[in-house]
Amino acid sequence: MMELQYLKWTKPVSGVKAFQVTRGEINPRNPYSEFNLCNYTGDDALRVLNARLELCAKLSIEMDQLIMPRQTHSNHVVIIDDAYLQADIDAQESMLEGVDALVTALPDICIGVNTADCVNIALTDPLAGIIGIAHAGWRGTVARIPCEVINTMKKLGAQPHNIIVTMGASICGECYEVGDEVVDAFAKEKHDVNRIMHRNADTGKAHIDLRLACSLIMQDEGIPAENITISDECSRCQSSKYFSARRLGINSGRTFTGIIQ
Ligand SMILES: [Zn+2]
Repeated sequence: MMELQYLKWTKPVSGVKAFQVTRGEINPRNPYSEFNLCNYTGDDALRVLNARLELCAKLSIEMDQLIMPRQTHSNHVVIIDDAYLQADIDAQESMLEGVDALVTALPDICIGVNTADCVNIALTDPLAGIIGIAHAGWRGTVARIPCEVINTMKKLGAQPHNIIVTMGASICGECYEVGDEVVDAFAKEKHDVNRIMHRNADTGKAHIDLRLACSLIMQDEGIPAENITISDECSRCQSSKYFSARRLGINSGRTFTGIIQ
């Protein structure tokens, strides 16, 4: 049975739910097992459809109220509004192509992202009634996708000091070893490398804390640090609970993180 792990907010947020779909009962021979909602990493289409149907049943919504982009490590954000909902399926699909974050002011619409080690960020301005979701790997973080999401939420009336953020399980800094070219990319875009990077004493390899990097970006945009919750769970350390590309390879399932109001 599919289980939803609800994400914590630092403040009470009524009517907004953020959650992750955990892997469930795993078949060790199937890297897509058991609940994978992502349809572009090689899983069987019928299995993906069944997982999506099960999630919709759990949330008491229809399939067209469950919306996730075709992610490409960009910093592109799309607003899900009435125009999107009224578009035909082909037009909707092309609107979500190459998109890594969604924002909506609509109720009963579950927006989500699929990740396996990358950071997932759920945001809400409960006063303005606006929610957002983002996927941030290192490229998206370097390109400040959290900043793009906040700016999009602001366009709809959100105020950064009212935005509350929660980040679910993703790779921890100890597990996230990167090449020096990644460190250079962060430095080039003026990220605080001294705070987000450390070197392993034995290997000398660089490690980056992507979740902290995203949190710092959001604080720079005016979200108070006390409004931000970061899960202490790591997808790679707990790859039996969450999909981990570093453990399972890229031909594997993705963990769906959703938000709905
Ligand atoms: Zn870890």
